[in-house]
Formats: sequence, structure tokens, C-alpha cells
Amino acid sequence: MLVVKKFGGSSVADKERIFNVARRCIEDYEKGNQVVVVLSAMGKTTDQLIAKAHEINPNPSKRELDMLLTTGEQTSVALMTMAFHALGVPAVSLNGAQVPMRTTSAYGNAKLKRIDTERILHELESKKIVVITGFQGINKYDDMNTLGRGGSDTTAVALAAALHADACEIYTDVEGVYTADPRIVPNARKLSEVSYDEMLEFASLGAKVLHNRSVEMAKRYGVQLVVLSSLTRAEGTIVKEETKVERMIVSGVAADKNVARISVIGVKNEPGIAFKIFNLLARNQINVDIIIQSIGREERKDISFTVARTDLEEAMTLLNENREAMTAQAITCEEGVAKLSIIGAGMTGNPGVASKMFEALYSANINIKMIATSEIRITVLINEADVNRAMRTVHDAFDLAE
Ligand code: ADP
Ligand code: ASP
Ligand code: MG
Repeated sequence: MLVVKKFGGSSVADKERIFNVARRCIEDYEKGNQVVVVLSAMGKTTDQLIAKAHEINPNPSKRELDMLLTTGEQTSVALMTMAFHALGVPAVSLNGAQVPMRTTSAYGNAKLKRIDTERILHELESKKIVVITGFQGINKYDDMNTLGRGGSDTTAVALAAALHADACEIYTDVEGVYTADPRIVPNARKLSEVSYDEMLEFASLGAKVLHNRSVEMAKRYGVQLVVLSSLTRAEGTIVKEETKVERMIVSGVAADKNVARISVIGVKNEPGIAFKIFNLLARNQINVDIIIQSIGREERKDISFTVARTDLEEAMTLLNENREAMTAQAITCEEGVAKLSIIGAGMTGNPGVASKMFEALYSANINIKMIATSEIRITVLINEADVNRAMRTVHDAFDLAE
């Protein structure tokens, strides 16, 4: 059996944790399995490297930032491999260029295009545990780049697909996927199974337990995932196409604090304005989520939308540079906001769901700034200061607790 095991930053944060992971991997190895280990950078290393970069230059080159960030994962694979050797087990570490894992050219947010499996298979055949850097690859200029924050999950799923692995295990610091972030909602319930589509909504709407692209890729290649704890032996959550578990109307609540609202005010009420705004942002790789357009008055209207807070500065610069072309009278933004979403494939055709969510927020005296819905989610924009309380209130309203 070939197993891909991915361990996140907190699972490899220090010497004890590294040996804990090494021992768990050796258990598999000693059963005769082929073991591929994917690692994140230790603890908060990636955050610390970003902070260091900004100390030197507040606007670092994206190429150089990736050059720096890829060292985080290289440190963990080298140390983990030394731990395997210390425990008497043959192992070898490989970085994104050595595999190689080919990526699109973008820095900071690259996509995996192709993985060469030859080197990995060769090392596995010579009975080694292969320890591979998550989150990174090599582009057509032979530069290392990264897959976006949380991207090691995507590396693991891509490797599982390319190697036709029999299992893909994502180990983290909680025991699986819960009805809400268990650190914010202490009585959140662990899901035994979750479908790719629901998991994709969870991940895209802020539940960082899995990188959203890892779920997309798992769905596309039919890779069944299990999310579980590196510190306990509890059964985790299985992520797969269809789940047999009885469908709840709402399966969970997610919050995203990496959000900002932009309003383009007083644009002419004529065709093409929305196109100009969103085309400008799309051409610059800026994702937009909730969009609201006001009803036109006196030939003018307002268009508001949300972007990731990490994209806000760039978005505002671009919009201000193009203010006249967009016929806008003003462009404003707000940072202290957050998105709160309920997710559930059973929501379709259940008309009371939105009103129940809004009632819960009303009863907690939380004001809704924007609303977006799809068949499988309802998202509201609220003040960031309210978001943890809102999450608990809504979680209670839908009886999601244990
Ligand atoms: P890793 O370093 O292992 O990749 P992450 O920090 O990226 O771990 O993701 C795990 C964290 O995701 C948990 O500690 C938890 O706080 C958070 N999280 C948010 N929503 C959920 C959820 N619905 N279920 C489980 N964990 C969640
Ligand atoms: N180390 C990277 C990050 O912190 C990738 C990951 O952990 O998945 O975002
Ligand atoms: Mg993660």
C-alpha cells in the first residue's frame, strides 16, 4: 500500500513533535507500506519569515518572498529526515525542485501543473520513506514558488493523485472537520464524513482546516481524504464524493476574517460599468466575493463588493487609478469586517434557513452589512468584532452542537 501523510505546522513545531510524527510514519513503514510524507514549515515559521521580509522591505518582490518562504518547508523536511535516520529508518528529503513539482509561473499563488513521480518512485523502491516539502514547486523559469497560504494540503493531494496512492491522510491539530472551528465554538461536533462539495464551501469560506484547492483537486481526481489529529488516535473525518450520513439541512458554520469591503460610489447608471470594475480586478488576479449594486437614482448607482484583506491595498490602488474610466464619484473601503457563512447541501428547497440565520443574528443584536446566497451557502458580512459571537449564536440556532 502507498500512503501519503501530510503534517501541518503545529504537528512539526518542535523536536518532540517531529519525533512523534516520525514514529507514526514508521508504524506504517513497518507494516510494509510505502510512505510519502508531506510537511509544512514548523509552527509559525511562515508568518515569521513574512514579518522578517517586511522588516527589510515593506513591499518585497514576490519572487524573493517565495525564495524565502520555501526555506520554511525545506527546514522541516531536512529535520524530519534526520529524525528518521536517528530512529534507524532509511529516508530522504526532496524539495519542490528536486521532485520536481512543476507550477504555473505566478509567485505567491502558483498552481501545480505536473508532478514527475520518477524520483519519488525510485526512492520508495529502495525502501526509503520520502519526505517532501509542501506548499512549493518550480516554475518555467526554474524559480521556486509557493501555492498560497495553507497550500501544503494541495501538495499532498496532488502527490496522492499522481502516485495513485491508496490513502491520503491530512494530520492537523484538531481531530477532524467540525460543524464550526472548534477553537471558537467549543461544543462544535466532529463530522464523520463530509462531501467534496460541502468541504469546498467550508474551505473557501474560511475554515482553514483544508486548503480549498486541495479539495478541488481531491474531487477532480477522486482522491478520498481523511483529516485527523497528529496528537491523538481519534477517528478523523472522511472527505469523499457521496456521504451516507443522514443529511442535515445545515452542516456547519464558517467564518473568514481575511475580508474587506470596497464601495465604488456614484457610478453612471449605464451598461459596462460593472464589467470595467471587475475586469480590472480579475486581470490583476484579485478575487471578489459578495457583490451588491444599489438601485440607480438620478442616473447614478453604487457597487459594493468584498475582497480578501490581503488584496485590499492593491485593489484600492487599481480602482483609484481608474476612477474616471469607471465614472465613480468616490471609492471607499472598510477593513474591520468578516464573513460568516452557513453551509449545507440540504439547504436547497428549505425556505426557512436564511430567516433562521438572520433571526439568530438579530437576537444577538448583530447588524448585517451584506448578504450573498447560493444553493449550498448563505454568507453575511458583519463587523469583525462580532464574528466569534455570531458564529456561536448561529451554530446554536441550527442545533449543530454535540
Ligand atoms: P495545519 O497547520 O495542520 O495545516 P491549519 O491551522 O491550517 O492546520 O488548520 C487547522 C485549524 O483549522 C484548526 O486548528 C482550527 O482552528 C481551524 N478550523 C477552522 N474551521 C474548522 C472546522 N470547521 N473544523 C476543524 N478545524 C477548523
Ligand atoms: N507553511 C505554509 C503556510 O503557513 C503552507 C502550509 O502550512 O500549508 O501557509
Ligand atoms: Mg493548513
